[in-house]
Amino acid sequence: MNDPRRYVVIGGGLAGLASAVWLAEAGKQVTLLERRGRLGGRTHALEVATLHDIPDNGQHVIASGYEHLFRYLTSVGTRKFVEFPHGGVLRWPGGRATTMGTKGFQALRSLLGAHPDAGPMDRARAAVATVRLGWQCLNQPGDLADLTTDQWFRRLGMPATARVALWDWLALGIAAEPVRQESAKVFADVLATGIRLGIKHRRPVSIGYPTTDLDTLFVTGAHQVFEKYGVEVKYRAVARHIDIRDGAVTGVTLADGETVPADAVVCAVPNSYLGGLLDELPEHDEIYAAADKLGYTPIVSTNLYLDRPLGTEGTMEALIGGAEVIDQVFDRQRMHGRSTEHGWLYCLTTSGAYEQIHKPHDVVVDEQMALLRRYYPAARAAKVLHAQVVPMPRATFSQVVGTDGLRPGQGTSVPTLVLAGDWTRTDWSATMESAAQSAARAVELLLALPEYSHQARGNGSRK
Ligand SMILES: Cc1cc2nc3c(=O)[nH]c(=O)nc-3n(C[C@H](O)[C@H](O)[C@H](O)COP(=O)(O)OP(=O)(O)OC[C@H]3O[C@@H](n4cnc5c(N)ncnc54)[C@H](O)[C@@H]3O)c2cc1C
Repeated sequence: MNDPRRYVVIGGGLAGLASAVWLAEAGKQVTLLERRGRLGGRTHALEVATLHDIPDNGQHVIASGYEHLFRYLTSVGTRKFVEFPHGGVLRWPGGRATTMGTKGFQALRSLLGAHPDAGPMDRARAAVATVRLGWQCLNQPGDLADLTTDQWFRRLGMPATARVALWDWLALGIAAEPVRQESAKVFADVLATGIRLGIKHRRPVSIGYPTTDLDTLFVTGAHQVFEKYGVEVKYRAVARHIDIRDGAVTGVTLADGETVPADAVVCAVPNSYLGGLLDELPEHDEIYAAADKLGYTPIVSTNLYLDRPLGTEGTMEALIGGAEVIDQVFDRQRMHGRSTEHGWLYCLTTSGAYEQIHKPHDVVVDEQMALLRRYYPAARAAKVLHAQVVPMPRATFSQVVGTDGLRPGQGTSVPTLVLAGDWTRTDWSATMESAAQSAARAVELLLALPEYSHQARGNGSRK
């Protein structure tokens, strides 16, 4: 190894995993510190011991424009476990279903309002509003950051049918906030990224899903890379403090008092776990204030094992006509080709789950079953064989009005200390791609550091 510098990555979620994998691939000596007893962060599988099954902590979907995430999957050898269906399904109360195409005429129809009751006037108004929306994503009005997505849609004249069938739930899906509080700028920025990627690759960005559990997708391959390159992983290592001397990092102090020596650090913890870590960084007050304002938003996932199939038409179905939250049903039989020995597994995700997050699990299960009965005739007689509720109160950072411009970049005033994580500044909202893109940028900054010199180390290190 030509470069004897010690690179320490704090946090074993996607941003930390990608940073550690890419630094190791670049021939660096890497130690990964993770506060929990497992890797994966907010993307991990959860065992249901009684069923010998491992559903995920929450269904994760993947956009075809997730370039950095696909780079990571290629590094860990699991790119093959992502599929893109031909279209998504919108499900209406009573059981009616509409397929949203992503190609040609079908894609155009989806954009102009896939609502089955939309008349020609509605579709014409949707067409005009959609063109204005696309234009304003790329040429943003100055006051967009002060508007909620709801206000923006009204101003664009987006008809109610198009909002119900597409735009409201897409906005909620992208920023995990109800449209009455979500920042219009956050939504517009992500759409602009999607439009640019669509133009670059000459095909619209579409939504896909993993065909395996999240541990297999993200963690198993990372372990193999770590073994190959000799990356040390320290579990239950809670970083408390990044030590800086003379403008360079020297180590990371853990909660148990141990100091892990470091010549460069990637701090890849979420905004809500930052407290104290950056105290020695000159601009820490500004970063802490931003991290605090970005806050968090809840998601509740419910894994339901039923005694019969629901009669879904697609792998992923969005339940339309709910109030302020997005409810999606994921058919794990179709997604994973799993056996139905223990029943039919359906994963339901509720984003912007401000009310649900406080409810007892049995109440959540009852409510989700009542919801399924409204949308799927087959659910009326269905029995729940097993249920698992996964509340994630800090699922993502919040992207309400007033949060625009807060996210810090990956570089800091200390060149050997970089930040990563979905909440740092990227082209995406709080997503796996944001985590992976932040890691790519953080690693790039470290790899651009001047060549190692013994003199520099003598000046910058405590040892
Ligand atoms: C239920 C749910 C559904 C989601 N759905 C989607 C989706 O469909 N598509 C999508 O793209 N994104 C989705 N997301 C968002 C996505 O999961 C996150 O954006 C991404 O996983 C964040 O990765 P990260 O590495 O930035 O943070 P994390 O995954 O949170 O990783 C941070 C790691 O740092 C560790 N840590 C924290 N503090 C310390 C410390 N002091 N010392 C050491 N270690 C520490 C934590 O234990 C954790 O392992 C979803 C999230 C949730 C919760």
